[in-house]
Amino acid sequence: MKDANMMKCAVCGGVMPKDEASYYSCASCGYMASDMRASAGSESADALESVRVANFGDICGVLKSRYSPPLKSVLDIGCAGGLFLKFAAGEGFDCFGLEPEPAKASLARERGCVVGTGFFPDAEWLGGKKFDVIIFNDSFEHIPNLAGVINGIKRHLNENGVAVINLPSSGGIIFAVASLLSKFGVWGPLHRLWQRGIVSPHLHYFNPKNLEILFARNGFKMDLVLRLKYYSLDRLWTRCRYHSSIFASVISFLGLLLLYPFSRWKSDVFAAFFRRDMKN
Ligand SMILES: [Zn+2]
Repeated sequence: MKDANMMKCAVCGGVMPKDEASYYSCASCGYMASDMRASAGSESADALESVRVANFGDICGVLKSRYSPPLKSVLDIGCAGGLFLKFAAGEGFDCFGLEPEPAKASLARERGCVVGTGFFPDAEWLGGKKFDVIIFNDSFEHIPNLAGVINGIKRHLNENGVAVINLPSSGGIIFAVASLLSKFGVWGPLHRLWQRGIVSPHLHYFNPKNLEILFARNGFKMDLVLRLKYYSLDRLWTRCRYHSSIFASVISFLGLLLLYPFSRWKSDVFAAFFRRDMKN
């Protein structure tokens, strides 16, 4: 069921009407989708690097302290230039990456990472390989086929393995403010969150609850949710200037400055940890 104005919810099967800017939302579970065209590529992450690395520290801390026997091998889906791989290797994990963009995969290899080129889960490089951890850092929301990707996780995760989905949240304060502004006809901030007009836009927006439902329906149990940092005040201006006019940059800079105290309490990014539900 997918006509021009309707989509079927990939999480709960409910009906998702389309709004005037072509975003679909499920009235039952809150899952959101867009029908923008997907392609390999990502936003330049330079201004975000320190925030992302701090988040990687929190994620690796959980992976190391919570699970027994210890988790060793990690597969990073959409690993780009290997930022997470280098970090996790420093934390003692055996790291592997999969990256659809050949130039980025080569860059990661030059930095000493073991990286295959291709899309998950169809890349030939994956073969029958299995891992203790499969992690998606800002990549899950770009992959069109949710059922295919979760089946791929099942196929390539060791029995006691952990899947980590680190992604933007529709339950965050920035998303709430951007959605509110869109009700008054100001669509810029919401388009920016969806990465509309950027090479690889977001195809999905989840919150912890509907992501849990999606995985539960596919044989996984949510183990933990970490609320992560979405931005920091250092380099905030650089981030606001990216792909924006000077006017839009000033407005978003002031808005993000004002919302900063609330951004940890109602975070715009989270990491969810899943294990196989052995009852399934
Ligand atoms: Zn739904």
